Amino acid sequence: MADFIHLLPDHVANQIAAGEVVQRPASVVKELLENAVDAGATEIKLIVKDGGKALIQVVDDGSGMSETDARMSFERHATSKIRNAEDLFQLHTKGFRGEALASIAAIAHVDMQTRPADEEVGTHIRIEGSKVISQEAEVCPQGTSISVKNLFFNIPARRNFLKSNAVEFRHITDEFHRVALAHPGIGFQFYHNGSELFHLDATSLRKRITAIFGHRMDEKLVPVEEETQVVEIKGFICKPEYAKKSRGEQFFFVNDRFIKSPYLHHAVVSAFEGLLKPEVHPGYFLYLQVDPNSIDINIHPTKTEVKFDDEHTLYAILRAAVKHGLGQFHLAPMLDFEK
Ligand code: ADP
Ligand code: MG
Repeated sequence: MADFIHLLPDHVANQIAAGEVVQRPASVVKELLENAVDAGATEIKLIVKDGGKALIQVVDDGSGMSETDARMSFERHATSKIRNAEDLFQLHTKGFRGEALASIAAIAHVDMQTRPADEEVGTHIRIEGSKVISQEAEVCPQGTSISVKNLFFNIPARRNFLKSNAVEFRHITDEFHRVALAHPGIGFQFYHNGSELFHLDATSLRKRITAIFGHRMDEKLVPVEEETQVVEIKGFICKPEYAKKSRGEQFFFVNDRFIKSPYLHHAVVSAFEGLLKPEVHPGYFLYLQVDPNSIDINIHPTKTEVKFDDEHTLYAILRAAVKHGLGQFHLAPMLDFEK
C-alpha cells in the first residue's frame, strides 16, 4: 500500500501555529511587548496605526540580538528562554514557546533591526510570509525594533474577520495596560496614528495605576498585602463605593504575568460580600507571587490561564487578604464580620 503521510513544510506549520497565537493585532502587540520585557528593556515604545491593521511597531532598548540570533528568532520552537522540560517549571520570562515571531512572520510583513550592546553594527532583516526577503548589516541603536505590517495578508478569511479599527485599537489598549501594569519599573510610550496616548515613566505600582487610569483613581485604592509560604500578595482593591456597573479594572498578575481566573475573581468578589450593591463589580489590581514550580502556565498558547497546584489554599488566602485590606480602611461599620 502507498504511504500518504508527509511532514508539512515549515511555512505551512508556522501558518497553522499562527492561528492559535495570533488572533488579532492585539495578540501581536502582546507578544512583541513581552519579548521586549524579556530582553530586559528599560524603555519600550509601541507605535500603532489604524488599530494595528496598518502598523504595529515595538522599539526596545533591551539586549538586542546577534546576526545569527536575529535569523534564528524567526524559526519555530527557537527560543533563548528555556532549554529543557524542567525549565518549564522555573520560568522567569514571559516567553518560552519560541513560536511568536515564527507565527507572526508567517502571516505578516516583518521588518526587524537589532543590535546587542557588544557589537558596533546591527542586523536588519525583512521577512514576508516566512520568506526572508533581505538580511544585511546595518548601523542601528542598541536593542530591537520590530515592525509588523499587512497582518493576515495571506489569510484573507482572517483579515476580513478583523473588527473596526476602533475595536481592534481597544483590544490593543487592553494588552498595553496589562503589560504596563505588570511592569511599573519599565517606561512605556504608546502612539496611535501619530499621537502620543501614554508616556509612562518607570515608577511605583500605585503611580503606574493612576498614570494609566487617571489621578482620581488614587483616592479609590486600598492596599492589599499578605505574605505566606504559599503566596505573596500585593496590590490594590478599589473601595466598594467606587464599584461599577461595568466590569472595568479587574487585574490579576501571577509572577508578573496578566492572567484570567474566574476562580480567583470569585475569591475577591466574595471578600466584598455585604459591601457591594447588587450588580456592581469591584475594581482590583492584585499581584500574586508564587513558586514557579507550583504553577503550570503552559495551558494555552496565549498563556493567560494558569493551573495552580493548590488553588483552594490560594483562594482562601486571597479572600482573607482582601477582607483584611477592606477592614483596615475604616470600613468596619459597613463590614459584616460574620460572613
Ligand atoms: P519566546 O519569546 O517564546 O522565546 P519568540 O518567538 O517570541 O519566542 O522569540 C524568539 C526569541 O527571539 C526569543 O527567545 C529571544 O531570544 C529573541 N527575541 C525576540 N524578541 C526579542 C527582543 N525584542 N529583544 C531581544 N531578543 C528577542
Ligand atoms: Mg516571545
